[in-house]
Amino acid sequence: MTTHRTPVLIVGAGAAGLATAALLAKHRVESLVVEKRPELFLYPKARNLSFRTLEILRGLGLSDEVHAVGAQTSDMVIKPALNSSEELPALDIGAIFAGLDDLSPEPVIQYCPQSRLEPILLRHIRNRGGEVRYGTELVSLDQDASGVSAVLRDIASGQRTAIRADYLVAADGVHSSIRNTLNVDTAGLDTLPIYVVFIYFRGPWLQFVPHLGDGASVQVKNTGVDGIFVPADSDLCLFITTYFPQRGQSAEQFTEQRCRDLILAAVGEPIDIEIIDVAPWQPHQRVAASFLCGRTFFVGDSAHAMPPFRAGGANVAIQSADNLAWKLAAVLQGRADPALLATYHDERHPVGVFSSRQSLTGPILATLDFDAPSGFDVDEEQSMFALLAGYRYRSTAVIADTPPSGAQPELVTELRGQPGTRMPHVWLQGGRVSTLDLVGTECALLTSDDTGSWHRAAPEGVAVQTIPANDRPAWLAATYLQTDGALLIRPDAFVAWRAETLPPDPAATLSGVLADIFGIRSGPGR
Ligand SMILES: Cc1cc2nc3c(=O)[nH]c(=O)nc-3n(C[C@H](O)[C@H](O)[C@H](O)COP(=O)(O)OP(=O)(O)OC[C@H]3O[C@@H](n4cnc5c(N)ncnc54)[C@H](O)[C@@H]3O)c2cc1C
Repeated sequence: MTTHRTPVLIVGAGAAGLATAALLAKHRVESLVVEKRPELFLYPKARNLSFRTLEILRGLGLSDEVHAVGAQTSDMVIKPALNSSEELPALDIGAIFAGLDDLSPEPVIQYCPQSRLEPILLRHIRNRGGEVRYGTELVSLDQDASGVSAVLRDIASGQRTAIRADYLVAADGVHSSIRNTLNVDTAGLDTLPIYVVFIYFRGPWLQFVPHLGDGASVQVKNTGVDGIFVPADSDLCLFITTYFPQRGQSAEQFTEQRCRDLILAAVGEPIDIEIIDVAPWQPHQRVAASFLCGRTFFVGDSAHAMPPFRAGGANVAIQSADNLAWKLAAVLQGRADPALLATYHDERHPVGVFSSRQSLTGPILATLDFDAPSGFDVDEEQSMFALLAGYRYRSTAVIADTPPSGAQPELVTELRGQPGTRMPHVWLQGGRVSTLDLVGTECALLTSDDTGSWHRAAPEGVAVQTIPANDRPAWLAATYLQTDGALLIRPDAFVAWRAETLPPDPAATLSGVLADIFGIRSGPGR
């Protein structure tokens, strides 16, 4: 068998795998994605993207495509039957995300179901020469000090291919066989006692709710049925319902006929439907003990699986991919010591644990028949701000002069340029450009100093961005810096270091900071 080479082999083409490949391509790193499914997943799972995820997609140049998908958020209403005129809002989305509007150049939340996001990412990867092979599974892997050897199998033909990669990204989902093969433990409540059935069907159900916006879902609750109609594409729909083993119910009882009866009971009148598939499902709260093992990195549900009740899984997956991609690029391109890669676990593990636990808090739990086990406090709910962007990384890739608080993760109440936090967003040039737009594939140093001192001090590989004089007051108010202070921003838009004012020897100071982060004395230039 001939062995093919790739810098990064990515197993799994869900949100995590595709985002990792797209982000690596942005950093000019080739990858090979393999996916055992024969094609893209047609049905929605994650439906809304948070502003932090949208910022990452903005950095890939995909904002217009994502915004074109639909209205900013998808409605969810409750009805006694689909054909009834009675209707109540299920969630007050405005209240849930209140107060977050000024944090980002992107909408706080945007409807873009995975079934539409994944094709956008796939096209983007392929347009940049990346390779995504569907119908191909990883069958074995072996890693050593210099790389990973893997065997892939084309499912249709059975043909096997040997691959040698510098690094492996295990984006192979909650049941990650790679994580099991490498004996990486997990922690958490694991499989949750919430029993769901997905019924995929085709039929003219939308005719009953033409007034609802694109992507709106409808929960129907009556004495005979309790379930949610979630739109996929035109008349393709996912009907989600639950069952209760403690009442003697089981997934096997959801025969095609029973599913048809349930859906028609939810519609309220006969319509012509075709049942396509029925799949039982249980959510998980499961976090890998380590997000890396040798040359393998866990991204997405393989690292941090969480129930969808606070809409976290795909969003957190894409954010983890963003954290990893620039580090892999810096190491593969010889700009950083491989020790930088350990900070992926140091930074994202606390966030993964936090996000997955937070997914089991909040008002939605009251609507579920779920008793949390002892030691799990469903009242530990934190604000949406904390969940979406209010955490602070502590690692060797962040130079901070305040000691860690010990909290995992450390939470902040505002983003004002503290090292380890997502950089502050300030509109510049009359609202045309955000400070986030000033960050590309290398570290950026943002300052309102216009004397050129930071320019002269910065080594190759650091892009100095001077805030225009007109925007200086807003920048200084957002960062609490002095005019000649600066923020060093990593390619993932997190603050690596802050200088309140210009240090006496800015070149030496900056070069020391970069050496500490990248582990290479000459700085990150190429
Ligand atoms: C009903 C539901 C609702 C959800 N709602 C939300 C939400 O509102 N917001 C949100 O952010 N998230 C939500 N999520 C979670 C979200 O869908 C996942 O967290 C997200 O898709 C992460 O996916 P992943 O890429 O890590 O894993 P997956 O999507 O599971 O992808 C893993 C892929 O790896 C492939 N694979 C596995 N083993 C191999 C192998 N050996 N070789 C090749 N391929 C392999 C699998 O076929 C699979 O396609 C929801 C999930 C569900 C089920």
